[in-house]
Amino acid sequence: MKSKCINKLQLTLPALSVNESVARAIVSAFCAQLNPTIEELADIKCAVSEAVTNCIVHAYRETAGDIYISVRIFDTRTVRIEIKDKGCGIADIELVKTPLYTTDTTGERSGMGFAVMESFMDKMTVRSAVGKYTKVTLFKTLSPLEL
Ligand code: ATP
Ligand code: MG
Repeated sequence: MKSKCINKLQLTLPALSVNESVARAIVSAFCAQLNPTIEELADIKCAVSEAVTNCIVHAYRETAGDIYISVRIFDTRTVRIEIKDKGCGIADIELVKTPLYTTDTTGERSGMGFAVMESFMDKMTVRSAVGKYTKVTLFKTLSPLEL
């Protein structure tokens, strides 16, 4: 049976550091309607935080730009979160997904963002075109509600 979208959220924010916590709070408030466990909600928050931070830190470099977030909730208790930027893009997606791989030279980054997203969610896809965009899509199916 095909799942049906029962609610959706769209959000555009400038890629500023302050908006990392804003995006995390809004997405988590939206997902809370499904009564997720505390752990499930924490996983979603962490994954969103990593994806949004990547837009802020890597996508636009010295320039300004927006982060486009879309969340859909399906009747199967699946949450699909898309986080997109129109920044520099990624040439080799498989390479950047490798744990500990980072292009950061300041020593502030550990290269674990994609690994965190992948482990905290059920599925992650990354699409990108160099000079155009990067889109990370995260899926998580929440456990059935206890009666
Ligand atoms: P950490 O997330 O641990 O702070 P990190 O951001 O370098 O470090 P990942 O999140 O795994 O690690 O990302 C790996 C690399 O992928 C980044 O160093 C960057 O080169 C590239 N990357 C990630 N997201 C984007 C994006 N939205 N646009 C362009 N490049 C990106
Ligand atoms: Mg990162």
